[in-house]
Order: sequence, then structure tokens, then C-alpha cells
Amino acid sequence: MKSSTRFPLLAIGAALLLQAAPQVRAEKVLFISVDGMRPDAVDALGPEALPTFHRLRREGSHTSNARTDKIYTITLPNHTCMVTSRGVVGKEGHNWIANGNPKLGQNLHRNHQAYVASMFDVAHDHGLSTALYASKGKFTLYDLSYDEKNGAADTTGEDNGRDKLDRVHLESDTGKLVDVLIADLASTPADLTMLHIRDCDSAGHSQSWDLTPGSPYTEALRGVDGYLGKILAAVDASPTLKGKLWIVITADHGGLTGTKGHGESDEANNFTIPFYVWGPGVAAGTELYSLNPDSRKDPGVENPAYKDAGQPIRNGDAGNLCLTLLGLPAIPGSTINTGQDLKVGTETVANR
Ligand SMILES: [Zn+2]
Repeated sequence: MKSSTRFPLLAIGAALLLQAAPQVRAEKVLFISVDGMRPDAVDALGPEALPTFHRLRREGSHTSNARTDKIYTITLPNHTCMVTSRGVVGKEGHNWIANGNPKLGQNLHRNHQAYVASMFDVAHDHGLSTALYASKGKFTLYDLSYDEKNGAADTTGEDNGRDKLDRVHLESDTGKLVDVLIADLASTPADLTMLHIRDCDSAGHSQSWDLTPGSPYTEALRGVDGYLGKILAAVDASPTLKGKLWIVITADHGGLTGTKGHGESDEANNFTIPFYVWGPGVAAGTELYSLNPDSRKDPGVENPAYKDAGQPIRNGDAGNLCLTLLGLPAIPGSTINTGQDLKVGTETVANR
């Protein structure tokens, strides 16, 4: 082939490649679920034991009075609330009530008998990269539900494919899991990353959600604080992440002292969870309810039903908040924070 014809073809090829490349975003979101975290433990242990949680409070916005789902205070149903911004039960709920490894052939959509979109769908369909790092094997539910077979066709802009999770890493040793995440953050951070940390839940199940200093539960939370400290140090050290990454933290449930675990959803210590937001434009040192007087109501010691006026901040707010921060629309079919009206700081952040 003569060069005069070859070069135009190369140019066309390069143009196609450029078109297919993922959208480049400066900003990124790291969403963290601290499994079984009681928010009052951060006050009980104080800044010396938990320096990173207290740094996140000083530099970001938080509440120690967020809520789980109304009916369920167990792990997989609540994580599904987070990633889909739906409640568990009812026609509009995601309906995933099981808490073990998904049975063969089962996934969120088959169970709901209709597609259940997630924050991973919206981010991926808009050309962003996505990642999940989880410390329990049952989180394979999300890999199975959003893989190249079961994920929805991408009808938004260019076709980014059905597999909504670009990277999935399951590892029960949380220290190892966090090290993998930190290495990835340093080299090839995803635009939307979810991290699940099991440690508090594991300690709670073995020795109860005991806040006495030195208890296995409080030691586990100190360990989690250490992981978060390593992650923040990695963010601070990265020119591509420093000042450009939001961290959103919540939990799937709290837990009780004694032998009852966290399954009883009418127990305040089970349904009371933390919600922290940190990053550019987030109002430093603020309480989240004080930033949202028009759209959210501090529930005191109650867990209101979804139909009640004055909704609390819930772990289900997380999915749509992560998308708001990334400048993306709400999750189709979502019912929590669907208006993306959970404010975390300045107008710039709230109205991106
Ligand atoms: Zn859990």
C-alpha cells in the first residue's frame, strides 16, 4: 500500500481509538463500608485511639446518627441498599434478603424479576472505570449481577459494555486487601471504587459489640482506623488523587453487646450507623444533618419508615451521593436520594 493511502487509514484508526477510550475524569470517589461499625465507638474511643476517623470529622462532614434499611439490619441486604439506593422490601425495593453466598444461578435481577441498576451501572455506562474490593466472599453477588452476562446493555452514549465492574478483588485478609487497593490507587485508580472492611463485624460476632477500651471490637476498629490512615496517606502522596478524591464511609449495621448480634432491626444499636464524607468542597467539621435541614431529619432514636415525612440519612443515600460527586445522574429505579439532594458542602459540590 502506498503511503498516501496508508496514512489516512492510520488517522481514521487513531480517531476510532480516541473515541473508544474511557472518559477521563480528574475527580474520583472511594466509597467505604465498615461492616458492623457502631458510630458511637468513635466518641467512646476518642482521637488518640482513632486519629483517622477524627481527622475525617475535622476535615469533612459526618453524622453518627444515620440509618440502615428499615426492615433489615444484616449485611448483604444493606450493602445492596448502598449500591442501588433502594430499600430492601416492596415493589420498589431491591428485594435481596439473603445473607449467604448467592446460590448457583442467582443474582439481583433474577431475584427481583427485573433489572436492578446500581451506581456501578451509571458510572460505567458514562465511560468511567469501576472497582470493588471486598473482604467477604458473598460480595461475589455484585460481580455476578453486573458481569458481562447479567449486566444491562449500555444505552448511554458510546457502548462501554455489560460488565459494570472493571475490577473485582475479594480477599478475607483485610490488611492484604487494603494493600492491593493502595497499590492500585497509586498506579491505576478507578473513578469509582468500593471497599468493604469486615473487621468490626467479625470481632463483634466473636466477642460482641463491646465498646470497653481494649475489647476485641474496639481493637478491630483501631485496626480499621489504621487502614483508613494508610489510605489517606496514599491519597496525600498522590498528585493525581490529592484534592481530587472524595471518600464516603458508612456501615451496613451496628451491633449489640451480649450475644444477640445485629439481626434485630428494631434495636437502635443495630440500625444506628455512621455516614462520613471527606474531600474537595466538603464542609469541614460539619454535621451532615445541619447541612440538610430541608431534605433530611435527624431521627433521634427512631428508624422511620420510608413513607414517613422527614427521612433520616441512610446508608442507601451512598450510591446516589457517589454519583452526584462524580457529576452523574441518579441510579435508574432508585428511591433513596434519587433527587441527589444530600448536600455535603459548598454549592459547587452540591450542584455539580
Ligand atoms: Zn455486616
